[in-house]
Amino acid sequence: MRTSQFPLSTVKETPADAEITSHKLMIRAGLIRKLASGLYTWLPLGLRVLRKVEQITRQEMQKAGALEVLMPALQPAELWQETGRWEKYGPELARLKDRHDRDFCLGPTHEEIITDLARNELKSYKQLPITYFQVQTKFRDEIRPRFGIMRSREFIMKDAYSFHLTPDSLQETYDVMHQAYTNIFSGLGLNFRAVIADSGSIGGAVSHEFHVLADSGEDAIAISSNSQYAANVEKAEAIMPAGERANASQALTLIDTPNQHSIEELSSFLNIAPQQCLKTLIVRGTEESLIALLLRGDHELNEIKAEKIEGIITPLEFATDAEVINACQCKPGSIGPIGLNIRIIADRSVSLLSDFVCGANQEDKHYTGTNWERDLPLPAEIADLRSVVEGDPSPDGNGTLSIVRGIEVGHIFQLGTTYSAAMNANVINEAGKSETMTMGCYGIGISRVVAAAVEQSHDENGIIWPNKLAPFQVALCPMNMHKSERLREAANKLYQELCDAGIDVLFDDRKVRAGFMFSDMELIGIPHRIIIGDRGLDTNSVEYRARTDSENQEIALDNIVAFIQ
Ligand code: ATP
Ligand code: MG
Ligand code: MG
Ligand code: MG
Repeated sequence: MRTSQFPLSTVKETPADAEITSHKLMIRAGLIRKLASGLYTWLPLGLRVLRKVEQITRQEMQKAGALEVLMPALQPAELWQETGRWEKYGPELARLKDRHDRDFCLGPTHEEIITDLARNELKSYKQLPITYFQVQTKFRDEIRPRFGIMRSREFIMKDAYSFHLTPDSLQETYDVMHQAYTNIFSGLGLNFRAVIADSGSIGGAVSHEFHVLADSGEDAIAISSNSQYAANVEKAEAIMPAGERANASQALTLIDTPNQHSIEELSSFLNIAPQQCLKTLIVRGTEESLIALLLRGDHELNEIKAEKIEGIITPLEFATDAEVINACQCKPGSIGPIGLNIRIIADRSVSLLSDFVCGANQEDKHYTGTNWERDLPLPAEIADLRSVVEGDPSPDGNGTLSIVRGIEVGHIFQLGTTYSAAMNANVINEAGKSETMTMGCYGIGISRVVAAAVEQSHDENGIIWPNKLAPFQVALCPMNMHKSERLREAANKLYQELCDAGIDVLFDDRKVRAGFMFSDMELIGIPHRIIIGDRGLDTNSVEYRARTDSENQEIALDNIVAFIQ
């Protein structure tokens, strides 16, 4: 490609809403453009990268024996009603009606649709096991879309679903998928870990998440120093023995701090990802020292539910600000921006304080951030709570845990019969009896992988693509080509030779300054750069620099194609 035909869309400015590097760089390098909150257009350069992730994923799925299908993004409510998820899924499900007033949703995932397909298509045990996959757009009305395409409302997922008669067969396919995921992420050149994941609402089932390791990751992962043990912290907590933990006492220290803290400050103080406070208990003060503990679904002020606690901490659901005010017995408007939240992990550990508190003004009494401390003896329950922290013993008894941050790029799950039983997805077994199929599901956030790769691999000049993901392998930069016929000929010849060798080249034929050209090529992260100029032609050489190098090296013009290969 020539930049004259493949215009770069690099920009100097970083968008105001970009909190993390990958988001900034993806905008600056001209990979994506924002349409609206959580909605992005992939520009030609970005799409080349996205397609590479998709292609490598597709190849591994095919190698694993999965069959590609393509299911509609628009899904009828009836199927979701069969599994009960129409009610359960909550506001993340984008619901809509058609012209006949029938209910539909934009698929955040496709279990219902594939199970419907399977119950119609699969009749006999002889057809099992079978795995279907697709690469399809998903819609999730995320409460807080952010980090560009990392957490967007519309994104591309590879989702696969397997059907079996026995748990052993499911385990077999699960292992194959686990290996396929390992191949995909190592093939993409990513530093990742497979971690044991919390099985969430479907208790007891086996589940692994694949995390690209990066400081900005939304998840905390516990990794053993001496063994292969790696778990999402939530999962590690669920199996750790109870006991008082350091984070709880840190939290108590913070409670005495009269100042307002941002989530980021508090989370860095407590060494926990801000996103970890998905379940947050908020302590509020009134005449009684403690009037309510609130569990937040996310950082949104208006999505809180308050409940008085009598010793026991109960998980609560979302609620409105009005409900909070009511439960806290505050006057409307008295919910202030001075914050103090306590996060409870797995209902047992206290760790995170965050961003607002009730600055209540009742009966002439002022309860503001500054007089909180005297009002806050914590209930005994909280003192006993704990969370997994750095240095804890590994649950497998092998070494100690370190806590690192990860970006969830994949998730595999042994679903069992949850969906197939609800939807009567049966086949005839060997004995001629009808039997419910057992299922597995396997997702990869194709678009998120692109952001995760940038997050993991960049420097102050821009993106550093792993070879397999790079939109182009080589940037060919001629110096002042418009002034030299000889150079133009040589550069065009080299371009042709590189192309003939099957190398993806971006030939910068723009009439721009060398520095400008170089900084663009660095920003967009092309792994190899060749500079060809009149001076080099005199000695029949070019200058070469890998994106990760700091110096140019001189290479004979005749050898450069072989050198790159
Ligand atoms: P998260 O914990 O980040 O919200 P999830 O657990 O809800 O993700 P899954 O239902 O496991 O996501 O979906 C499979 C994969 O889809 C995830 O591992 C992730 O890579 C990707 N994914 C999920 N939500 C988003 C999103 N809003 N934007 C981009 N990718 C996403
Ligand atoms: Mg999610
Ligand atoms: Mg998750
Ligand atoms: Mg997940």
